[in-house]
Amino acid sequence: MDAFTPESERDEASAFTEMLWEQGVEHEAAALARLGVTADLSQVPLVEREAATLAAMARKEPLIYRGRLTVDDLVGEPDLLELQSNGGYAPGDIKSGGGLEGGDEETEGRLKKHYAVQLGHYGNILERRALGDGMHKTFVIDCDFHRVTYDLDLPQGVRNTQTWWEFYLVTLEAVRGNLSGVCKTLPALGATCKLCHWYSKCKRDVIEANDLSLIAELGRSKRDALVRLIPSVRALAAANIDNFQSGKKTVFPGIGPGTLEKYHARAKLLCTPNARPYLKSPVSLPIREKEVYFDIEADPMKDNFVYLHGMVEREHGKPSRAVFKPFFADGDTPQDEEAVFAGAWHYLTERIIDSVIYYYSRYEWTSYRRLAQKYPSVCSVDEVDALFQSPEMIDLYTDVVKRCTEWPCHDQSIKTLAVFCGFKWRDISPSGAASIEWYRRWLKTGDLAIKQRILDYNEDDCEATGWVVDEVRRMEVVPALAVNQ
Ligand code: SF4
Repeated sequence: MDAFTPESERDEASAFTEMLWEQGVEHEAAALARLGVTADLSQVPLVEREAATLAAMARKEPLIYRGRLTVDDLVGEPDLLELQSNGGYAPGDIKSGGGLEGGDEETEGRLKKHYAVQLGHYGNILERRALGDGMHKTFVIDCDFHRVTYDLDLPQGVRNTQTWWEFYLVTLEAVRGNLSGVCKTLPALGATCKLCHWYSKCKRDVIEANDLSLIAELGRSKRDALVRLIPSVRALAAANIDNFQSGKKTVFPGIGPGTLEKYHARAKLLCTPNARPYLKSPVSLPIREKEVYFDIEADPMKDNFVYLHGMVEREHGKPSRAVFKPFFADGDTPQDEEAVFAGAWHYLTERIIDSVIYYYSRYEWTSYRRLAQKYPSVCSVDEVDALFQSPEMIDLYTDVVKRCTEWPCHDQSIKTLAVFCGFKWRDISPSGAASIEWYRRWLKTGDLAIKQRILDYNEDDCEATGWVVDEVRRMEVVPALAVNQ
């Protein structure tokens, strides 16, 4: 997109993106203060940067910051070039995010693809200039200033034995093919797109092409598996999917018959004018005197600091008499986080006695487990699990929307579904990412208008959950057979 699309079609950077940039700059400065850089080339004019880099390498500088190297059609500007014991250099990059992804309490996580490709690129240039150390052991300095080794000669996984280095080389050829016009990539709406500066343009293109990624939970890789035989949502809606199935398999790699049926049903819904959402199987939501809609706001770049636990409480069947109960951290110290967690915990354990409590996705549960580990004086992890396992504590997304419903919508986020139900957020650009940026500004300025914006946004998120609950109650069951005919 950067190479082929006019600048005029590019979105403005959002306040959240600018905040990430600022944070990246601050983090890089803090990392540099710890690293012991011996040659800082960041102030050298770009036209002189490569010569300065080569001179620093010739002097055998132990750690070079912001060098620049080129070879043929390749350009690389690694944050770090580190001298190795054999006299060659290994590239590294400073990241304000985690060095690995997908880890949990038991597993370490895996290398990030985009980091591996970037480091492979620097390693390739070094190798071709005969300036590397002959290894593919690159590294990242992560958000906690830890050094994470990116050994690019390792396989990507147990099942995928292609090494990271091989993956980089394949990616490089794909990029060359793309830039030369030999092959063309297609946009696909995915979770990461919302922060991309081409989002509006890609979204328009995807809608115009009636691309399969308009179907909820059908991302780029599934779209690429389907697109040769089924090029659009309309084509899928009109298809007889039996033609693509054989026993327990379909002709599409990585897509089983159940998944294909699900996508088929969603395609049909999207292609039906004035379609209504429906239940795939009966849902029985408990009825209690009160209902509470619960949503937390957290900053993932600050160790998932939870700054707001919002609760909208209403009597069953009386949505107009809803009351908002926020537990908001005025400061970002552990004491602030613990205090609001204690307040929210006390509230929830009281309300569970006479209420059904709804939240949207597993995030609230996992966050409460993490908070209990951090602040054991408030409650234990077992107590958190007991609360969230209560039949009156309902994860509306995982247990109801995802499992039992279908919607004529492009995704199943609370924003999309509640808007479909007719709900309107008061804020003109509501999003969890924006809320984080507002909270950071609140901390800096103490501006009460910003605090109110955060509270209003969270209250609306809670209310939106209530609107989706009400819609689920109105839905009728449509058997799968009727849908897939
Ligand atoms: S919006 Fe998504 S598909 Fe388009 S360029 Fe950005 S990341 Fe790629």
